[in-house]
Amino acid sequence: MHIPEISSNALQDKVILVTGAGDGIGREAALHYARHGASVILLGRTVKKLEAVYDEIQAAGGPEPAIVPLDMKGATKAHYQGMCATIMDQFGRLDGLLNNAGILGVLSPFAHIDHDSWNDVMQINVTAQFMLTQALLPALQAAPKASVVFTSSGVGRKGRAFWGPYSVSKFATEGLAQVMADEYEGSSLRVNVINPGATRTTMRSRAYPAEDVNKLATPADLMPLYLYLMSDDSAELNGESLDAQG
Ligand code: NDP
Repeated sequence: MHIPEISSNALQDKVILVTGAGDGIGREAALHYARHGASVILLGRTVKKLEAVYDEIQAAGGPEPAIVPLDMKGATKAHYQGMCATIMDQFGRLDGLLNNAGILGVLSPFAHIDHDSWNDVMQINVTAQFMLTQALLPALQAAPKASVVFTSSGVGRKGRAFWGPYSVSKFATEGLAQVMADEYEGSSLRVNVINPGATRTTMRSRAYPAEDVNKLATPADLMPLYLYLMSDDSAELNGESLDAQG
């Protein structure tokens, strides 16, 4: 799909929450959303990284972001509901939610998949994204147009040997997005999925330690799709699973 370029102020006055905003793709998305005018809510588990993104947005003259330090492994329904209440108090709505945080877990043969590691991957990559999105519905539905974006992977469309828990978690992510998109079709809320494709981040280096990172796309290369899906230019798009690298 050809990805239309959005205007420099297309996200003006929008409030967008990014999970995993301290590093990798989420960090880049947060910076780009702020650069296009959005007030960004930075959620992640490492406060120092979130503060660095906050400082970069401030230094560039972007709208003041908010920081939400949260480990999605142990977060409860009460955490997410409290977050929704705070967002409603401070902003009155949420226009965009980028569900980006994720872990790779351990790559191993099926016979050796460790149950604790399986549970961690499912908890962070699927259950936490579901709980967060469900809890934020009142804020999303208070926006005139809201965009929810989930993050999948090539192994979320075709299973791959040794990628067990991660691959299954991304299939679940695609399924969750499809269910929501069908349910909210015709409403003010749209739900789509991005497959970033191989990208130069810490996660990718863990999966492929020997590869030449200079041959990989950078998080910045993916941003046209991340921006487009958060802008009203994509208001008609719902239930799509799109590749950020074409
Ligand atoms: P990174 O590992 O670089 O970043 C992941 C982010 O998620 C980090 O900010 C991390 O926080 C955060 N995170 C992880 N666990 C938790 C947790 N328990 N609670 C809160 N935040 C958490 O990964 P990428 O940027 O590469 O990946 C982003 C998304 O893209 C993921 O969903 C990944 O599966 C997907 N993806 C990536 C591809 C790639 O090639 N890079 C390819 C296909 C999909 P912290 O830094 O504090 O640990």
